[in-house]
Amino acid sequence: MTENLSILGSTGSIGTQALSVCEKLGIRVSALTANSNIGLLEQQVRKFRPKLAVIGTKALAEDLRIRIADTDTKVSFGIDGLCEAAMIDEADTVLTAVVGMVGLKPTLTAIRAHKNIALANKETLVAGGSLVMSEAEKEGVRIYPVDSEHSAVFQCLQSCPDKKLLKKLILTASGGPFFGKTRDELKDVTVEQALNHPNWSMGAKITIDSATMMNKGLEVIEARWLFDVPVENIDVVVHRESIIHSMIEYCDNSVIAQLGVPDMKIPIQYALTYPDRYSCDVGVLELAKIGKLTFFEPDYETFRCLTACKKAMAKGGTATAIVNGANEEAVRLFLDRKISFLDIGEIVNNAFDSIESRTVTSLDDVLDADRAAREFVKGIG
Ligand code: NAD
Ligand code: MG
Repeated sequence: MTENLSILGSTGSIGTQALSVCEKLGIRVSALTANSNIGLLEQQVRKFRPKLAVIGTKALAEDLRIRIADTDTKVSFGIDGLCEAAMIDEADTVLTAVVGMVGLKPTLTAIRAHKNIALANKETLVAGGSLVMSEAEKEGVRIYPVDSEHSAVFQCLQSCPDKKLLKKLILTASGGPFFGKTRDELKDVTVEQALNHPNWSMGAKITIDSATMMNKGLEVIEARWLFDVPVENIDVVVHRESIIHSMIEYCDNSVIAQLGVPDMKIPIQYALTYPDRYSCDVGVLELAKIGKLTFFEPDYETFRCLTACKKAMAKGGTATAIVNGANEEAVRLFLDRKISFLDIGEIVNNAFDSIESRTVTSLDDVLDADRAAREFVKGIG
């Protein structure tokens, strides 16, 4: 069980929920980081009294230093600050809850500093999964999934962790706000419609990823690395109610599922308390009130991001960093109202087709591929 936590991305949807779990369980917090939300970071510093607070830029850091001059908290900024938070002495665990592959370098830094990782930041594994997993193995560090599907698989695996007996992983997907729509119906989707997720309240980027189903593609890749299962043994099923968070199938065709109300506090808390369980501040699952659970095949023709992710995983090397980087830029352009909703899938597929994939031998290979993908997208925009 985690005793002292460093939180990368403490002002976000996962970060704030993690802080309430820490408060309830008495987990100490040694570092907090935010990109730009200085007001909330200041409040968090006053409440949790970390040793270190990190913010995005030097100018914001100067402002934060003045605001919290009456505390003992040190202030740093930028990627170096994130890495400082990732290797802070006091923490035994680092929660990576920043959004985007900016989390990769700090995650590797934390692993090298022998911190266990509670991983929400899926883009880190999508871009640099081979590096992260081999480094974790080398350093003897555990990576605990926070993503609800991966937490579900992890929880199901507790019943029989023998990999040889596992046939497949079945990841559930809500289908997002546009389930059942045709490409024609999605042509004029607005940012507001895409941000309106039916079941989960999350940060903007992952909410758009859920609407395009890129999120499920990223999660297939994340699952491949976390559980070392070949991508052809990872299925996706649309499950509108988001009650079954994922399943595993054994060689005898027995399927184990993890269920619960859709609330990220459960997987966040389990990642921090594993192997123990504590009461959690979430609703009780009342199946009779829900009535029925439904399942559908994903629509790979309409939601082309999902297809791009599967192709990228099959290709290997830097291909997954390319689709991830292209998607991060495309989502930014969509949120800035510069491209249409359907453009996101086109861009991700075009980046995959146009940029050559290379073998990953170092962090630089991944960063180069990410940069190439972003430049490719900016060239179109
Ligand atoms: P969010 O946008 O709500 O929060 C992101 C956090 O990261 C904030 O604290 C922000 O200040 C920080 N951040 C953003 N850009 C940064 C940058 N360039 N440098 C440093 N810090 C930066 O996002 P979220 O919804 O909490 O998601 C965080 C991660 O967790 C994502 O990778 C997401 O895919 C994953 N995740 C989220 C949920 C969820 O329910 N929100 C569920 C599963 C997985
Ligand atoms: Mg998820």
